[in-house]
Amino acid sequence: MTINVAKISKLDRASVLHPFTQLADFASGKLGDPIIVETGKGIRIQDATGKELIDGFAGLYCVNIGYGRTEVAEAISRQAYRLAYYHTYAAHTTDELAILSDRLVRMAPGKMSKIFYGMSGSDANETNVKLVWYYNNLRGKPKKKKIISRMRGYHGCSVVSGSLTGMSFYHDHMDLPVSGIIHTGAPHHYWGAEAGESELAFSARRATELDELIQREGADTVGAFIAEPVLGTGGITPPPEGYWSAIQEVLKKHDVLLIADEVITGFGRTGSMFGCHHYGIEPDLITIAKGLTSAYFPLSGSIVSEKVYQVMEEGAAKVGAFSHGYTYSGHPIGAAAANAVLDIVEKENLPGNARVVGDYFQKRLSATFAQLPIVGEVRGVGLMGAIEFVADRDRKTRFDAGLKVGARVSKAARDRGLIARAMPHGDILGFAPPLVTTKEEVDEIVSIAEAAVREVMDELS
Ligand code: PLP
Repeated sequence: MTINVAKISKLDRASVLHPFTQLADFASGKLGDPIIVETGKGIRIQDATGKELIDGFAGLYCVNIGYGRTEVAEAISRQAYRLAYYHTYAAHTTDELAILSDRLVRMAPGKMSKIFYGMSGSDANETNVKLVWYYNNLRGKPKKKKIISRMRGYHGCSVVSGSLTGMSFYHDHMDLPVSGIIHTGAPHHYWGAEAGESELAFSARRATELDELIQREGADTVGAFIAEPVLGTGGITPPPEGYWSAIQEVLKKHDVLLIADEVITGFGRTGSMFGCHHYGIEPDLITIAKGLTSAYFPLSGSIVSEKVYQVMEEGAAKVGAFSHGYTYSGHPIGAAAANAVLDIVEKENLPGNARVVGDYFQKRLSATFAQLPIVGEVRGVGLMGAIEFVADRDRKTRFDAGLKVGARVSKAARDRGLIARAMPHGDILGFAPPLVTTKEEVDEIVSIAEAAVREVMDELS
């Protein structure tokens, strides 16, 4: 099918409300026409004008198996022909869903018991917060409800998940955060550490701050701590040494549940199947989405541990049915897509590829960018990485926000055929290519990014 670019652009501009888009500049045409993405294969997408781009961000860190995998398209089609929909209320199910759930319980870190399904990372986090409240109500601890998340954490955009997100521009003008949600310090050594403070000492300080926060609020009022194993949208920042063990000790001491938001890190991105495996995290609840179906179909899940589920089951005689659910919870097409995607993840050992190619990627990023005069930090793990730009390396000062350094580098990369994302918190260029990326493709990504960074560096000097 040939797309009429002018016609589609006009229809889009007139009728689509785009996320994270300057509405007036889009409406006036100042931002240019919408980019009509038409096809994709492997790590590349093509727009309707025929321009090909390497997708160095896998969509929004989600198309882990790469584009154009016909096995998944066929699984979706087979399920749609057989049974396009049925709900999971009142103990209904489908074969694909039961098989998927058994698989996920076995794959997941820790002692997991059940999965509740949604359609997005945001709604799965909403569910996890409700599960914390439900769990503590059933345990006779009705005050133990506050949720602690981290500054620079990202957990979604809906009312509660958007409140959990720890970046003010997700709250401004939207009346967030709602009450009962508290933010603690970000686990970013580069910006957060005091002069000469080691990673271990910084992690211990963050854990002490958390401990003091819980004591100030009253441990009997704090239900859970939610965090991404690796800080994602807040800057693609792996945890400093010793962070997770120190934090978990504090949570155990105060009987505070741990929700691991594995929306980005789940299914291989760090080089392990889950970020929790990678960092020795033992969660009580896990949030999954994105990589679960590689975004071939919207599907998310809240994975519930034995510990939490037992309380729910024991409470049933008292409270009756578990009164939470969506029309599309456990959608059979989503389940079929997830099973087909997980077949690929397992058969092609994508966590293993993310480890091996990821190591190469991290080395190439460091070797190419770490010594440049406008680069403060190069960081990452597996197939997620970031370059943070600073005005002064020695004094660690940021560029004037008006210079839009991150956005300019991202645009220069795009003009050369590479999508790398200008992350929203600071001047940061982020990478999260599909987990099928090869070393040769890493070389392509790094060399385009280098040309883009050098172009902007020259403009700034
Ligand atoms: N949690 C994390 C860690 C994410 O990165 C995201 C999205 O980027 C979400 C939750 C929200 O997922 P969704 O956009 O599917 O609602």
